[in-house]
Amino acid sequence: MDLVDSHCHLDVAEFDADRNAVVARAREAGVRRQVVPAIDAAGWPGLREACRSAPGLYPAYGLHPVFLAQHAPEHLDQLHAWVERERPVAIGECGLDFFLEDLDRDAQAGYFDAQLRLARDAGLPVIVHARRAVDAVIAAIRRIGGAAAGRPSRLRGVVHSFSGSPEQARQLWDLGFLVGLGGPVTYERAQRLRRLAAEMPLEFLLLETDPPDQPDAGHRGQRNDPARLRVVLETIARLRDEDPAAIAAATTANAERLFGLPPA
Ligand SMILES: [Zn+2]
Repeated sequence: MDLVDSHCHLDVAEFDADRNAVVARAREAGVRRQVVPAIDAAGWPGLREACRSAPGLYPAYGLHPVFLAQHAPEHLDQLHAWVERERPVAIGECGLDFFLEDLDRDAQAGYFDAQLRLARDAGLPVIVHARRAVDAVIAAIRRIGGAAAGRPSRLRGVVHSFSGSPEQARQLWDLGFLVGLGGPVTYERAQRLRRLAAEMPLEFLLLETDPPDQPDAGHRGQRNDPARLRVVLETIARLRDEDPAAIAAATTANAERLFGLPPA
């Protein structure tokens, strides 16, 4: 099995004590490549180091909306320089979080729009966080990607840990975006999400774990582990009544195409 974890915060302190073992366990489970999205500017050098520590780890650089208090406008200039120098596989994690009420929405939008413009101009995909904010994310992608009738968007990317409606998912696919599904799909009560996983076209699907957060239903409250991408895969295969190998092959090809990943 050859899987890609499209969203894996392997650089964070929670993995400092055993990062190599975590990566080795993922490889054992068939997770041979992982995209590691950034959180804030202070974390970029450590993220680069983490990605150099083992083959198959690919960095994305960006400013995560939940960590708004750690960002400053000059970090956008620094991001520009990092992206030119490092040529990451994507810009991110960026986006909008309207669930946490103490995060200023205008300030979030300022950082998000700037990162979308950077991705558009650099020809890189974006990794988007959208919590209770999918409509606002779609509007920003439309505006900055410049999609219109007969003209495709100049932005590509993934809305990771997608939790919106089927209609919102379709709008994203029409704009050339994929959706990432992970641990939340393993919860029985996530009925709308499980229906989407069962019915959506595979060409728009990426698999993810989002460790250290979002563990599957069998590991509630624990540090999430990228080897458990297999649980996500097997859950989606069961919901679709399809062969896990077919879903693995399709989602791996999707990730290779979106992020331009070299072969495993
Ligand atoms: Zn994340």
